[in-house]
Order: sequence, then C-alpha cells, then structure tokens
Amino acid sequence: MKIVVQKYGGTSVGTTEKIKQVADKIIKKREEGYRVVVIVSAMGKTTDELVSLAKAVTEQPEPREMDMLLTTGEQISISLLTMALISKGYPAVSYTGPQLYIQTTSSHQKARIKDIETSKVMNALENDKIVVVAGFQGVTEDQEYTTLGRGGSDTSAVALAAKLGASCEIYTDVDGIYTMDPRKLKKARKIDRISYEEMMEMASLGAGVMHYRAVELANKYKLPLYVGSTFSNVKGTMIAHGGSEVMEETVITGMASSLDDIQITVLNLPSSISSLYRLFGQMGEKEVNVDMISQMITDDGKMYVSFTIPKDDLSIAEGILKEWQQEDPLLRWEVNTDIAKISVVGLGMRTHSGVAAKVFEILADNNIAIKIVTTSEIKITFAVDKIHEEKVIELIGNAFELVVAE
Ligand code: ASP
Ligand code: MG
Repeated sequence: MKIVVQKYGGTSVGTTEKIKQVADKIIKKREEGYRVVVIVSAMGKTTDELVSLAKAVTEQPEPREMDMLLTTGEQISISLLTMALISKGYPAVSYTGPQLYIQTTSSHQKARIKDIETSKVMNALENDKIVVVAGFQGVTEDQEYTTLGRGGSDTSAVALAAKLGASCEIYTDVDGIYTMDPRKLKKARKIDRISYEEMMEMASLGAGVMHYRAVELANKYKLPLYVGSTFSNVKGTMIAHGGSEVMEETVITGMASSLDDIQITVLNLPSSISSLYRLFGQMGEKEVNVDMISQMITDDGKMYVSFTIPKDDLSIAEGILKEWQQEDPLLRWEVNTDIAKISVVGLGMRTHSGVAAKVFEILADNNIAIKIVTTSEIKITFAVDKIHEEKVIELIGNAFELVVAE
C-alpha cells in the first residue's frame, strides 16, 4: 500500500471554495493509486481569531483552556474537507488528534508528540477511505487536549508520515522554498533541493514556510519532505538528506535577514571568565535568548562584550545590567536597536573556504561596517546598521547567485 501524507495549511483551506479545490487535489492523488492521509490546519485566520477571543475575555488565559479553544479550529476544517470528499463520491473520515491518540507531553500550547496510535488510520485506509486528520493537536495520557505551538500542523504531518512509513507533502500558499523571502529579495530563486540541516538553519532564522520542529523531525527519521503550492502545479522544493551541494555548485543555499534583534555592548567589565559566566548565566536564568557574542580585552585590562538578543528581551537584559551596576558603578553599556541580522547558509561552506572573506570583501568595498559576526559550520551571521539591510541583501544575493539568472 503506497501511503502519502499531505498537509494543507490555513490559507489552502481558507474558504469553502478552496476546501472543495483541495478535495479535488486529494482525489487526484487517490486516483494515482495512493492511499491518502490528509493533515489540515484551521481555516484561514481562525486560530488568530480564537486567540483574540480569549484575549478579549482575559489577559492571561489558562494554557489548558487555550488548548481547549484552539483545538476547535482544526475540527471545523477536517469535517468540512471530509464532507467535500464524500460529496464528490470518495469515502473519507475525519479524526481529531485525541481520537487518534496523538499522544503528547503535557505542556499546554507547546506540547511535543510522543507517539501516535495508527491502527484507526490503517483500518480506514484498508477500507479504502481517505483519512483527514486535525493538525496541531494531541492528547496527554490523562486525556487532556494539547496543541503543539503555532504552525504545529507541519509537525503533525511529519510525525504521522514517519509513523506510517508514508511519503510526506506539505502544501502551502508559496510554491516552494526560496533562496530568500521574495519580499526581501525580489529576484530570489526557488531551490529545487535543500538539505535538512540547511532548512533547519533557515527555519530557525525565521524563513517562514516550514515549522522548525517539523524539519527537525523529518531529519531524525530521514523522511524526505516535498513543499509545494496547493493551487498551482509548479514544481516545489524537496527537503532531503544531502542538498544542493550534491546537485549544484553553489556554495550558499539561502539567506535570511531579521530586524527583530538588538545589540548590547557592555563596557568596563572585569576581565575574567567569571564575568562572562555571570553575565550570560543571568541572561539564561531569565530566559533571555542570547544569539551572537563577541568579546575583547581592552588595553586597561578591562573587557567589553557585545551580544545580540531579541528586541522584546531588552528590558530584562537592562534590568540585569542595572543591578550589576549598583555593585560596580564603572559598568556601562550601549544599546543599538537599529541593526539588521543577516545570515547566509550553505552546506557548501564545509568544503569551500573563503566564504566569510568574500562576504567581508563585498561589505568593505561598499563601506558597510559589520557590527558583530558569528559563524557555524554551515552558516555565517553578521549584523549591520539597519539602513544597509536592503543593499547588503542585494549585494550578497548577486554575488552568491541567490537570484534568478538573467
Ligand atoms: N492552526 C494552527 C496555527 O495557526 C496550526 C497550523 O496552522 O499549523 O498556528
Ligand atoms: Mg504554517
């Protein structure tokens, strides 16, 4: 039995008209000889609307009650889609996460899938039914409803496909993964094939499209993921083991940029490892997510440390520094709220040297100062002043062939 798990996102099932079109697409797959399991998100902006409803009632809704509320979104889309399939003459059945015993941890609103009971799905498939499953939700051992965190339906799809030994297709409103968000780089090129590692880096950099945990899970089970458009037949992107490295000669696969971070530079720190430990230990305790770090000892035996954090964490970080300043009045810090954090990602960096040098050369030629840099085996991230964001994206995009060839 050839089983495929197809996932349709919220915009793909945004209206009843679209739901009927999705039904046709599923039927086409069925006609090709596949047994189809479908994971669906809530219709359009339903989840956002449910969140606003809760916020209108109370500022701090109970996580358990939020899950009770949010799981209703997907219940609407699975039933409507199943009705559409049946009305077109194809036997189908819908199930919620709890009905399939998609067992999760008990942390409401950010639960993790532990296991899935597949006998119901298998039975239905054997009876020639199309199975439609609510994404984003599960149930704890104590029968409590849970959700997996926003965007979690991708993860539901991957988990179910892995468990069923099925192939997995993610359908969305874009036709694949691009070298960069086309809203930021107009001529961004679609990627035919990208490795799990590259995709995880891109997803964690906020390159929308795929939920990070879904890619992580696919990597764990070495499950190839196809990402494509619901309403067009343009070829999408394959996320799989090995990547563009094998197929093409490009060194850099993609780029991402974010304006969500700020840079803090702490001056006059006592130059010892214990200052670093104290600084980042306290940031960690308060759950400030520190990203890039650079540190230097100055001539007077003091140290300065520069790091980036999400904008939202600024007041917590400054609270920590203010407390420290009371003990050590010489301690000072500067905050730069106008930075753009830009990353280039590519498996090719493992085998090609000089990528960082080329990036720095391009910026130097254009008199653009780098505020801070970090690198990993397959990624270089640097911050520049926000006003240079567009220019840098264009320069790097052209230099590393991230744009559509003229
Ligand atoms: N409906 C949920 C959300 O909007 C889950 C998903 O769409 O993946 O976050
Ligand atoms: Mg999504």
